[in-house]
Amino acid sequence: MVLAADLGGTNLRMAVIGENGETKYRSRSSTPTTRRRDDVVELLIDSARECIEAIKPHAAVTAFGIAAPAVLDHDAGKILIAPNLPELNDFPLAATIADALNIEVFLENDANAAAIGENWLGASNGFSSSICVTLGTGVGGGVIIDGKPLRGIDGTAGEIGHICVEPFGHPCGCGSVGCLEQYSSATAVVRMAGELASQFPESKIASPIDRSSLDVYNAAVLGDPLAIEVFRRFGFYLGVALGGLINVLNPEVIVVGGGVSDSWEVFIEPLRSEIQKRAFKRPADRVSIVKAKLGDDAGILGVAKLAFSSSNIGLVV
Ligand SMILES: [Zn+2]
Repeated sequence: MVLAADLGGTNLRMAVIGENGETKYRSRSSTPTTRRRDDVVELLIDSARECIEAIKPHAAVTAFGIAAPAVLDHDAGKILIAPNLPELNDFPLAATIADALNIEVFLENDANAAAIGENWLGASNGFSSSICVTLGTGVGGGVIIDGKPLRGIDGTAGEIGHICVEPFGHPCGCGSVGCLEQYSSATAVVRMAGELASQFPESKIASPIDRSSLDVYNAAVLGDPLAIEVFRRFGFYLGVALGGLINVLNPEVIVVGGGVSDSWEVFIEPLRSEIQKRAFKRPADRVSIVKAKLGDDAGILGVAKLAFSSSNIGLVV
């Protein structure tokens, strides 16, 4: 069995996973908000020990995979930049945890981990070339080509959320402008509703207090014109980005996950229509656009898969 963790800005979720993906034990804790590196490391080690002890009477844990919301150096097992956990910037997390627990530790970007998890047991299972796009607070991306995660020379490949879809558009946290993340994320839904509100005075979400991304979705389902326009733009921009990726990568399937993917019915039509307009016919007709299947567990299962097949990745210890 292996240990797998999904380290997020809000929660640390951990599980012991068997070789067919079955969950044997789970733990969940709040990620420390102290901004002290040692507190995060200590929580990872304590939670790992709890899981290892709990499963000890039945089986041994042979490796540990950690999904982190960060740009990573795989070969060094190092976190380079973690926007939501800046205390981990430029830190050899894998080696530190490996030393403390005396097991192999593998690090993976959370969106890549979700793509691997969906490919192992979820919506892209059985396909050798897939793209996974995660629509949440931001937009994450993972690409699998010929069965292998696409990492690029620096390990930073797959940043679908930072494809430019509007050259003179909204500024992005990455330093660029007009990135997909600024149009097709939960954050963007709320912002765009605010930007467009004055054009739709009759809208039920014309007031800022009624404008969480879920409020906007609920209003769209009920036919609210402002909410429908927000999700039309959301789908349009996602279609622009995915149309380009289809032309470049010719994937068999594109998996759409993350919290906002639950709003599927109100953005899928503009998304599909933009792909039809922009991508070449043959790859556009071939590709399936599907909803993710594994929900919050995609990342944990992805790093579990990596821990089982460690030959795929840069070994850390
Ligand atoms: Zn960006």
